[in-house]
Amino acid sequence: MKAAVYRGAGKIRVEEVPEPQVSEQKALVKFRAGSICGTDLHFFRGDWRWMKRGRIIGHDACGVRADTGERVVMVPVTYCGKCYYCLRGLSTYCTRGKFLGLTSDGFFAESIAMRTRNLVPVPDSVSDEEAAVAEPVALALHVMDALKPNVGDWATIIGQGAIGLLMTQVARLKGCRVIAIDLEDYRLRLAEKYGADFCINAKREDAVKRVREITRRGSDVVVEAAGTVRTVEQTPFMVHKAGRVALVGESKGYLNLEDADEAMFFTMYISPVEYPLAVKLIAEKRVDVKGLVTHKFRLADFEKALQTADNPAEKPLKVVVTA
Ligand SMILES: [Zn+2]
Ligand SMILES: [Zn+2]
Repeated sequence: MKAAVYRGAGKIRVEEVPEPQVSEQKALVKFRAGSICGTDLHFFRGDWRWMKRGRIIGHDACGVRADTGERVVMVPVTYCGKCYYCLRGLSTYCTRGKFLGLTSDGFFAESIAMRTRNLVPVPDSVSDEEAAVAEPVALALHVMDALKPNVGDWATIIGQGAIGLLMTQVARLKGCRVIAIDLEDYRLRLAEKYGADFCINAKREDAVKRVREITRRGSDVVVEAAGTVRTVEQTPFMVHKAGRVALVGESKGYLNLEDADEAMFFTMYISPVEYPLAVKLIAEKRVDVKGLVTHKFRLADFEKALQTADNPAEKPLKVVVTA
């Protein structure tokens, strides 16, 4: 069968690989559609070189169970149920768990043998293309739950890529007033469509100053989803005293927080536990992922799909790959 295989920085190729072996507690899932995530691009660009060569990538996808014919979203994090974290209900951090598509083979393959407990059924009202974008929805739900905003609170979302735009949507569902920040007007137009109360183009305006003007004392909660040192450094000056800041973007490097006031900061990158709710909200049209899909390719053209996802001139948000 064919699969997208990591062969080193800049080299992810569609290759012929052996068919998966189905063992007990597993079901064969035939690939239908998946989406490319920023994480995949880090490997493609060579930012992260720890991935094993020969690994099949992809961690956000749906398929059809060969045994039951049911359409399912695949949850990419496995857990043991017995370790320190699992026993405390934090299976996301299982010390024996695998992250499919990163530390074990992932979803961009014609089929995969999956633990059945990692499969979430997809209702007919959700298309393959929509079911291919479950991961960032689950993350947005988890992050906004952790931030615990009250109705009417200010939520400032820095970065309106696919993840930021979903944060904007979920913050609105939570009853927040949303300030959306980005450098690109086409993304801010989508943020506005998804209910952002204020949109700031940080190329033209001083984002920190504008947030403080709008909110008077600072935002109640802030989500950093742009993934740059500069935007992380802005968060303490956008949030009000004792406010909460979620750092969702990857941003390596020395941080200068100067004379930042007191606030709570935390990181969050994945949420396997919120997949069922994510699928439900997509099915009920309460969260929109269709509007985030800007490009579609076949699995055989995976390299073209990656290049498109990595090319800002293409204005990509979510690039979906289909069987
Ligand atoms: Zn991802
Ligand atoms: Zn465990």
